[in-house]
Amino acid sequence: MASTIFEKHSPGRKGYTLPDNDVDIKLENCIPTEFSRKEDARLPEVSELDVMRHFLELAQMNHCIEKGFYPLGSCTMKYNPKINETLARNHSFNNLHPFQDENSVQGALEILYDLQEALAEISGFAKVTLQPVAGAHGEFTGLKVMKAYHDSKGHANKKKIILPDSAHGTNPASVVLAGFEVVEIKSNDKGLVDIDDLRAHVDENTAGFMLTNPNTLGLFETQVEEISEIVHSVDGLMYMDGANFNAILGIVKPGEMGFDIMHYNLHKTFATPHGGGGPGSGPIGVRTDLAKFLPTPMIDKYDEKYFLDYSHEETSLGKVHSFFGNFAVNLRAYIYIKMLGTKGLRRISENAVINANYIQKKLEKYYDIPYKDQYCMHEFVASGVWQKEKYGISTLDIAKRILDKGFHAPTIYFPLIVPEAMMIEPTETESMETLDDFITAMIDIAKECEEHPELLTGAPQNTPVKRVDDTLAVRQLNVKFEW
Ligand SMILES: *Cc1c(COP(=O)(O)O)cnc(C)c1O
Repeated sequence: MASTIFEKHSPGRKGYTLPDNDVDIKLENCIPTEFSRKEDARLPEVSELDVMRHFLELAQMNHCIEKGFYPLGSCTMKYNPKINETLARNHSFNNLHPFQDENSVQGALEILYDLQEALAEISGFAKVTLQPVAGAHGEFTGLKVMKAYHDSKGHANKKKIILPDSAHGTNPASVVLAGFEVVEIKSNDKGLVDIDDLRAHVDENTAGFMLTNPNTLGLFETQVEEISEIVHSVDGLMYMDGANFNAILGIVKPGEMGFDIMHYNLHKTFATPHGGGGPGSGPIGVRTDLAKFLPTPMIDKYDEKYFLDYSHEETSLGKVHSFFGNFAVNLRAYIYIKMLGTKGLRRISENAVINANYIQKKLEKYYDIPYKDQYCMHEFVASGVWQKEKYGISTLDIAKRILDKGFHAPTIYFPLIVPEAMMIEPTETESMETLDDFITAMIDIAKECEEHPELLTGAPQNTPVKRVDDTLAVRQLNVKFEW
């Protein structure tokens, strides 16, 4: 694939026009001779039109939300409204410099301040920082807040953070990075935190508990009050992984449920772009007495004037990112929240939940749904165990076959506690017709497992790239093109 651009190469062809060089600078005066090129780089020589066609073709081979349904569980791949992009590209925003004087950036500070306030209001926390730039980064920052809290109280023994076995992989990783130890507890047969196992593991060394709600099985954890009583009884703190906030916006506030710290994934819940390693935003919210540990500066307001507040520098855990986080990402989330308003935000979650339940119900005869004692929230986890046992077809085969039907595959083999897991999250932005098309495709696939298993074991049949060896790619990473 990568070689096609070079096959278009034709000596002398070019895609640019530059004026003649009329600047009298000797290269050797700027770059030490040992570093300067002795011969021209071997670059493809192609016309502008060839380049355009090449990249457009590549882009069209890729799947994206604008092209088709993207039910990637836990990742919340909802549509990002284009007005956010248009406004974020406005020169009033993208010509700003973070070192500009406060007086000249009052509008930008107002936006950041309002976003902090809106996130605090939506989640029921006292203070929000916009500095962390990913969900995992928010987790790290939140855990550092926990650390600062325990340090301030002289709790040298509090080293353990408890997590359920359904936790997202970033949770234990952040725990270790922040200098704590992971204690894993079991989920019960309903897919919720096993309270007895929690009690058995909570002791004076417990620094805190991390929970995703709704959890990664797509289930609302109904026992948060009880859990928080247990954790708080040993002066542990309650951390909420808010990556699944899309399910409960405007319906419940984690800060009023017993959580002390929470991160938001603006690139999931609040429709800012994500994927491909692009910039994200993972602000955190905390209860009042933890605000003094947040990174500096905070954005504050005094007498109708916005300013950067460094006043708690002595107690702050320090900075976790340059300046104030990813301004342009935060700006997009701000526009999204303002456009939707209180009612709109609630409707997001209502529709996300209805969409997920609709698909789950329609598929329950065809795929095992291991946890269905309660309605699912914005996502659900199906399992391919029936197909595996009866026909030897794995969830990986099913996921590859879904690509042939024009959809992105759901998240597979996660959460780890469900064998052959398929985690399906439709989001609120999809029409009933799209949901029905996906349901039909999934039912067709279930039938193919029985009638034409070769279609599955040989899938994907019609994507530009077939099955790749993920393990090899990771072990022998080679991103250099050679010709
Ligand atoms: C996505 C996600 C995270 C991590 O967020 P990133 O922005 O990818 O770092 C953490 N927890 C859950 C439940 C998630 O879905």
